[in-house]
Amino acid sequence: MVTQSSPSPSLSCIETVPHRSSHVSPFEASSSYHNHGDPSESKPLQDVHISERLMEDFAELARENTEKDLETCGALGAFLCQALNEEEVFAIQNEHALYPVGWIHTHPSQGCFMSSVDLHTHYSYQAMVPEAFAIVVAPTDSSRRHGIFRLTDPGGMDILRGCEETGFHPHKEPEDGTPLYENCSNVYKNSNLRFEIFDLR
Ligand SMILES: [Zn+2]
Ligand SMILES: [Zn+2]
Repeated sequence: MVTQSSPSPSLSCIETVPHRSSHVSPFEASSSYHNHGDPSESKPLQDVHISERLMEDFAELARENTEKDLETCGALGAFLCQALNEEEVFAIQNEHALYPVGWIHTHPSQGCFMSSVDLHTHYSYQAMVPEAFAIVVAPTDSSRRHGIFRLTDPGGMDILRGCEETGFHPHKEPEDGTPLYENCSNVYKNSNLRFEIFDLR
């Protein structure tokens, strides 16, 4: 049932978000969220824009591994969009000073879902950045070739925070009746983004 893990090629993707979309950085949103600790004071999630080509290009790069039933994994980085001009954006790109916004991996022969191991991996991203998302690319799932997921908060986050098991294991459902994870509603596919993949294989 478990696919082998890959001789892990590591990929990273750069995306710029249109300037109009945020005036408050997710870091600020995130720290104030954690500092206050009161959900009623939490700010809504920032919108995140990803390139329309991201899943397709990644699936193409992973194809050889996928055919061998090996998973391929990559980290996703994004630019915050404050009022940066082109030169500033360029300088930041040069330094690869990217904001960790999530990760992407393939399920070569399994369906499009988050395994328990995926949930634990994702927990560390989302604990750091509330907007973090996980993309699962499942080329052989005829019903759904990719999904963009996050843990429910507080439901899924609380369960994962309290779970010390490793490997593949079942999780109980959150007590508030929510599922452990959900489809992201704050991630938008955008055909107009600058987008780069660094293939570190
Ligand atoms: Zn997985
Ligand atoms: Zn667990």
